[in-house]
Amino acid sequence: MTTPYKKTDKTIAYLNKQYSKLFRKLTSFDELNVIEVSHEIYNEVLKLVEQESTRLVKTVYDSYSENHTISTTDATAFVLALMLAYNPVTKYVYKNELERKRSRFAEGVIASDSPIEEVELAKRLLVALNRQFEDDVTFDTVVKAFEDDGVKEVRWITAEDDKRCKECKSRHGKIYPIHRIPPKPHRYCRCYIEKIK
Ligand SMILES: [Zn+2]
Repeated sequence: MTTPYKKTDKTIAYLNKQYSKLFRKLTSFDELNVIEVSHEIYNEVLKLVEQESTRLVKTVYDSYSENHTISTTDATAFVLALMLAYNPVTKYVYKNELERKRSRFAEGVIASDSPIEEVELAKRLLVALNRQFEDDVTFDTVVKAFEDDGVKEVRWITAEDDKRCKECKSRHGKIYPIHRIPPKPHRYCRCYIEKIK
């Protein structure tokens, strides 16, 4: 098996396109409606991320598990749990961080002389936040597929992009029990695992 992140890139690219559409809703910047509109936009983002992540989980799971497939219900539950889990690498809970991004965006628009810049900033932050989330969804789905198949040990494979990172490099080829895989060394790490037995 090679890198599982090919499908992830498609999901990320699709989501990135959608954010621009959502922010276009915000046509007039008005202190009275910005809070409400920001909630509308970010709720849509959350729905979209949930939906696209569920599709990603299904695709990755079904290509990595030899003996199982995952239902849409289970895939959605997996995504929702991940949205509420503390991430030791990013040091936040995805859902809380999304809400923080929303409230900072709304405050930024109210306070700024240049709301367009605030929109651009908010979009960039969403792109980064969700890129990280989809990478995590992918990695954790591979782990789940292996666990469900009864895999006991996995090998860490360092992504080409991560060859510069000392910590990633030093992990290349290392073997871990499936229940003791260490967290990734840094954000946007694209290392992955292979099953051994
Ligand atoms: Zn890495």
